Amino acid sequence: TSERLEGVTSDQISQALFERAGAVIPGGVNSPVRAFGAVGGTPRFIASARGPYLTDADGNEYVDLICSWGPMILGHAHPAVVEAVQRAAALGTSYGTPTEGEVTLAEEIVARTPVEQVRLVSSGTEATMSAIRLARGFTGRPKIVKFSGCYHGHSDGLLAAAGSGVATFGLPDSPGVTGAATADTLVLGYNDLAAVEEVFAEQGDQIACVITEACPANMGIVPPLDDFNLRLKAICAQYGALLIMDEVLTGFRVSRSGWYGIDGVAGDLCTFGKVMGGGLPAAAFGGRAEIMSRLAPAGPVYQAGTLSGNPLATAAGLATLRGATDEVYARIDGAAATVAELASDALTKEGVEHRLQVAGNLFSIFFAPGKVRDFDGAQQQDTRRYAAFFHAALDRGVYLPPSAYEAWFLSAAHDDAALGRIAEALPHAARAAAE
Ligand code: PLP
Repeated sequence: TSERLEGVTSDQISQALFERAGAVIPGGVNSPVRAFGAVGGTPRFIASARGPYLTDADGNEYVDLICSWGPMILGHAHPAVVEAVQRAAALGTSYGTPTEGEVTLAEEIVARTPVEQVRLVSSGTEATMSAIRLARGFTGRPKIVKFSGCYHGHSDGLLAAAGSGVATFGLPDSPGVTGAATADTLVLGYNDLAAVEEVFAEQGDQIACVITEACPANMGIVPPLDDFNLRLKAICAQYGALLIMDEVLTGFRVSRSGWYGIDGVAGDLCTFGKVMGGGLPAAAFGGRAEIMSRLAPAGPVYQAGTLSGNPLATAAGLATLRGATDEVYARIDGAAATVAELASDALTKEGVEHRLQVAGNLFSIFFAPGKVRDFDGAQQQDTRRYAAFFHAALDRGVYLPPSAYEAWFLSAAHDDAALGRIAEALPHAARAAAE
């Protein structure tokens, strides 16, 4: 590995591509966090990936700690996933008709999670947006409750106090989202049960649902306190509202099922994405048959999609879920614990005040002193230190999330060689953060 540890030699081609991109794509990227706005510098344009490594357009290799923001739990270009996609592609890329692959993927999701039925869609944004429409249609009520710092995609009604992407750019809300679009969205502080009880006592008969990240990972990792999820479920049940557990990020990643496998609290509706598409666009929402049967064409709540259940996406998702065995989860858990400890130890050694927060095999590091339990707490951190930490790691071939508000993601492909490279890079990163 010594050759690799010489680190990054040039980013000239990435720079040239970023300039070209800036002329034809707003900000040069198709999703804001990719632009390195929070950490400065030039985003690396990735040309290929294999196992735990990314290779950029200049030929530099990085250990990847983003894993496409979650999906790649088996590592990049996993042979079973590549083969499944190639086989599917040769049979035609989209038909606009039902296929067996959709049924098999739905069966796999139902077998792993508390839902009885699922509808497949193409992004997490669609999944949460549709789940909310269904909750409103089912209950006949207008209002929804969300928590600040929780991200549920970028549909208008959910783009209020929405965590990482928006927080990274310091925007309280997005221009273009009208007051009318968020008028029925009640935003409460995360982990604040008293606020939930209060809002239900006042407006309980108007509230269709509470939507929450099963374990928040979009303001950094901020796990639910004690029985927070359980109490949410009880309060919703008491008032006839639905609980929507957003497992787009945690689903099939932190356990075979998701955060449900850790705390056992089932949402009335659940949303999934990321891992279940194996790196292609696939997501889903599901729940009890009694609720799901209100969806068109079985029921009156409309929802549709030209590419929903796309054969390539379902093939990639199925191959990924079938590969995600108990042994795979044990490997990811072990690798994540190792990296979390390495990072925290390196920072401690350099005297950098920080707080490691863990949720199964997800973790994040806040450059702040105490425990973070909500979005206000997350925003107390010193993001400048994170930028220095990030760039020193990147220069030594370790690609961290380019924002202090994001979780670190590992895969089953992060073997001893990859962990060794991380172990060599992190002390340099910690030293840079200390300056
Ligand atoms: N919900 C959660 C918890 C997420 O983390 C995300 C994306 O990061 C979404 C929803 C939106 O998913 P997508 O980016 O596929 O639209």
